[in-house]
Amino acid sequence: MAGTGLFSEILDGEVYKYYADGEWKTSSSGKSVAIINPSTRKTQYKVQACTQEEVNSVMELSKSAQKSWAKTPLWKRAELLHKAAAILKDNKVPIAESLVKEIAKPAKDSVTEVVRSGDLISYCAEEGVRILGEGKFLLSDSFPGNERTKYCLTSKIPLGVVLAIPPFNYPVNLAVSKIAPALIAGNSLVLKPPTQGAVSCLHMVHCFHLAGFPKGLISCITGKGSEIGDFLTMHPAVNCISFTGGDTGISISKKAGMIPLQMELGGKDACIVLEDADLDLVASNIIKGGFSYSGQRCTAVKVVLVMESVADELVEKVKAKVAKLTVGPPEDNSDITAVVSESSANFIEGLVMDAKEKGATFCQEYKREGNLIWPLLLDNVRPDMRIAWEEPFGPVLPVLRINSVEEGINHCNASNFGLQGCVFTKDINKAMLISDAMETGTVQINSAPARGPDHFPFQGLKDSGIGSQGVTNSINLMTKVKTTVINLPTPSYSMGDGLIARL
Ligand code: NAP
Repeated sequence: MAGTGLFSEILDGEVYKYYADGEWKTSSSGKSVAIINPSTRKTQYKVQACTQEEVNSVMELSKSAQKSWAKTPLWKRAELLHKAAAILKDNKVPIAESLVKEIAKPAKDSVTEVVRSGDLISYCAEEGVRILGEGKFLLSDSFPGNERTKYCLTSKIPLGVVLAIPPFNYPVNLAVSKIAPALIAGNSLVLKPPTQGAVSCLHMVHCFHLAGFPKGLISCITGKGSEIGDFLTMHPAVNCISFTGGDTGISISKKAGMIPLQMELGGKDACIVLEDADLDLVASNIIKGGFSYSGQRCTAVKVVLVMESVADELVEKVKAKVAKLTVGPPEDNSDITAVVSESSANFIEGLVMDAKEKGATFCQEYKREGNLIWPLLLDNVRPDMRIAWEEPFGPVLPVLRINSVEEGINHCNASNFGLQGCVFTKDINKAMLISDAMETGTVQINSAPARGPDHFPFQGLKDSGIGSQGVTNSINLMTKVKTTVINLPTPSYSMGDGLIARL
């Protein structure tokens, strides 16, 4: 059970502690932040509301711990990460239980998230020892006007303190996707977990603690992003911010100093369906892509753009599958569970009502109880409706009928977002042209958008982000290139003659 056994150390009465200097601590603020269970709408857990002084102290400790960590051999860093991954996987049950309670993720998917996170940490450790163990050797005479008098050696060095801020929907996975690359690259790490998801993150951090990482290297500061977020992101000790979330990321980017940013933000992933597509395959992918975790995924299918000639048939197929989705508590592994908060449910309802007023066709009756919204497919959506452009982050999916491929591409490219998109057709040549024309970080051909596998590059264009994720790209983003140049008094060519004469 969460907060018991191996994890009893992280709980103080009914409030979870924060993690600093290798210890679990109670904040001097005397205040806590309540985590509301989305299903029951009652307080499930409480976490510390950390103070600015506590942030300052964590940053100081983090700076000094990083200095010795950077001198720790790469293989040793990897060994500790493998250990943390094993402990995390061994403790998947209590961590998954807190995911169920604080973000209403179906029980089976919660376990999958923890196991996938352990795999990500191990993969990162393996990738890190390879790519960080390699550098470059350059010779000066390849650039015009130079003789071979300079040997340039390059290697990758850590940035310093990395601040990681993940969102509520994959709090554990999106935290470790920042923690593991930061640590293997020799950085220290300060985690600010999402409020909904904080307890799962604290359990995950305890697994790193149990693995035996040095004191101060990893810290976890809890509190509301709206209260402590600016102080963290603008803190002078921070050398890199890796953030995943919504529009908050845009304001952080404007306020942050001259440091590398990894921003993975929202999306309005389009699914373009051509006349020759396998409509059964499309329908299954729309269900998986649009309704998994109740649509609360950055890469969820968020708008279907289907050719008019096959639209009726596709809508019927999707409707039949929507009718089979189960709705209820996450503990029962229901397909559709309560969305994360009342304000999210109200926002989704606002989009639905706007579509209703403007004449969209409701394929099911709109139904809501508390934060639980029944899956809804909206047909005949037009570009003047908000749902054609905005990210509902809920189980509501709009279908726009198009008369040409160009119309679909234009709709996709008119969005502020550019995360992923997908196209369904049996014609690979057309698919490639469409992929090139779509202004998104990734295009999936004949499958719904997806972030994994976690070693694939993952990036958004426009308001969907800065930089690229995926294990290798994250490690590279969290390092800097350092060069040392050896200058020779005379040019030296291997196997060149006259060597003895010059010596
Ligand atoms: P969010 O509201 O932007 O919150 C994300 C994180 O930012 C949370 O940890 C939040 O903490 C924190 N935060 C809030 N205000 C802050 C501030 N002023 N300074 C620093 N941090 C602050 O996003 P969300 O609702 O958790 O997640 C949903 C969004 O994430 C969607 O837009 C989705 O598309 C996007 N997302 C993108 C990806 C991707 O890889 N592209 C993946 C998953 C999700 P609190 O919880 O304490 O407020």
